[in-house]
Amino acid sequence: MLAKWLHKVLSRKSVAAMKKRELPFAQHRIQADELSFAAEKVIKRLHNAGYQAFVVGGAVRDLLLGITPKDFDVATDATPEQVRKLFRRSRIIGRRFPIVHVMVGPETIEVTTFRGGEVSSQNELGRIMKDANFGTLEQDAMRRDFTANALYYDPEREVVLDFHHGVDDIRQRRLVMIGKPLARYQEDPVRMLRAARISGKLGFTVDKKTARPIAECADLLQREPLARLFDEVLKILFSGHAQACLRQLNTLQLNNVHPLLDALLPGAEGNDNIVALALHNTDQRLRADKSVSMGFVLAAVLWPRIMESWNREKATGIRSSAAMNAAIAAQRDHLDKSWGIPQRYSVVMREIWMMQPLFEIRRGARPFRLLGQQRFRAAFDFLCLRAQLGEIDAEVVSWWQAFQQASENERTQMIRNAPAQEGIANKSRTRRRRRKTNMSRLEQA
Ligand code: ATP
Ligand code: MG
Repeated sequence: MLAKWLHKVLSRKSVAAMKKRELPFAQHRIQADELSFAAEKVIKRLHNAGYQAFVVGGAVRDLLLGITPKDFDVATDATPEQVRKLFRRSRIIGRRFPIVHVMVGPETIEVTTFRGGEVSSQNELGRIMKDANFGTLEQDAMRRDFTANALYYDPEREVVLDFHHGVDDIRQRRLVMIGKPLARYQEDPVRMLRAARISGKLGFTVDKKTARPIAECADLLQREPLARLFDEVLKILFSGHAQACLRQLNTLQLNNVHPLLDALLPGAEGNDNIVALALHNTDQRLRADKSVSMGFVLAAVLWPRIMESWNREKATGIRSSAAMNAAIAAQRDHLDKSWGIPQRYSVVMREIWMMQPLFEIRRGARPFRLLGQQRFRAAFDFLCLRAQLGEIDAEVVSWWQAFQQASENERTQMIRNAPAQEGIANKSRTRRRRRKTNMSRLEQA
């Protein structure tokens, strides 16, 4: 009760202490045509209907930094229902924080109504459980995480509204939490991961006061829903700066947050392990605007675990493919349940892993069958990654490279000349020898 009252008084005081700065074009230089077609259209329609509407958050921050935003978010004083009525292709999502997704062509714009007033509900640790009360623009700015993310751009008046010195912080390349950092992390622990991701991606330093409580609050993340943590991990992987974000996680001492993040940490530096190699490739592809397969990246991130288990199974004397099957089965519960990896990714990962032992077989009809598999290309790229690390002979990779490009006749010839797989060759030789011995026994009889 007392805590609630204090929070109310303090928020009122801090809102009163806040000074709005309105920056004209000369001071921000954002051109209205830098917005996406969809963002412009959504804002125009909201304005025409008499509502306030701004581009907010990461997009304004990125435009000030000369970076092309990856998406546009809009903040308005229209309620979700009012927004929905204005746009035929829209839907309200989220119960704790209702927002509207407005679809324009292939783009989706996230439209949020200004938040304000009292937080609807918090748990015993101060975690916000529901925040569905609407408020004013000033109150909305208070609710945002970092000063650099609390900027509002009005394309019609061509002004940027800055309530928390966000523009100065961006110029100084500083990430600063709005309000009291400890309380803000308790309200929503995911803000810690956002601090690592945003500072890593933009090359910002995290302000000392903002960074200080993180090590002590890191454990709070373990109580967050797995799916939400997994989403944040994906955002790190897809940031185009995954390695830099991971270095920030290390610097901020955000360890033991999610097993997937721990599996990623060896990728923070260098290029001498498969995780680092995969992240480096991913960063480069994303920066060159090329597509990235999440299943592939995750297959690489978790490969050290799978390989360890695969080697253990192989040591028991079973065939390579059977050993891989057993290794994947042993990790299955972790992948699906404890780690929250959605099936659409784990299916791809499993296929890539299952194909690795099949590359060892270059005789008979198997190479043709492998080549015909839907996920062959991804599995082959994965084999190349392993070869880069010396796990696979370069000769095997060149053979498969040539096999893909060869004609049918050449392929048959290649198979005829291919070295037999060790284990299988030995086994068939033994089988032949055994058959021979039986025959001679029969002959003797
Ligand atoms: P990105 O470039 O990755 O999209 P972003 O800052 O835009 O970064 P979003 O997840 O798109 O991140 O969020 C949009 C805005 O919503 C943020 O800039 C911030 O103002 C606000 N926001 C998002 N998550 C939080 C949070 N956990 N707590 C407070 N404000 C948040
Ligand atoms: Mg965004």
